[in-house]
Amino acid sequence: MCVSVRVLDDGAWISIDGTREVGVSDLWRLSEHEFCQCATADVLLEGFFDARKRGDIIEARPTGRCIICGERGSMGWLTIGHVEDGEFVPVDPSHEHRIEPP
Ligand SMILES: [Zn+2]
Repeated sequence: MCVSVRVLDDGAWISIDGTREVGVSDLWRLSEHEFCQCATADVLLEGFFDARKRGDIIEARPTGRCIICGERGSMGWLTIGHVEDGEFVPVDPSHEHRIEPP
C-alpha cells in the first residue's frame, strides 16, 4: 500500500493521498513534550513544516503557540493519525499527545 503524505498550502494542511486531511487551527493537548514549561500544554497549531509516514502512523512537525503560557515555536513529531485498510483515521486533538523529539 502506498500512501503519500505532503504538506500543502504553505503549511496549512497535511495532505494524505492528495486529500487535505488535517489542518491547523485546532487546539492540541500535549502531555509529554518539550514545547514549553507547562506539564500539560494546550497548543494552537499555526502551521506544519514537515510530515512523514512511519509504519501505519502519520506524523507531522507543527509550529504553534501554547495558550496557557504564551510560548511560541516548533515541536518534534506529533502523531496526527494512522492508516487502516487504506483509509486515514485522524486522532482527536483534545486527547493527550506525546511529542517525539526530532
Ligand atoms: Zn505552555
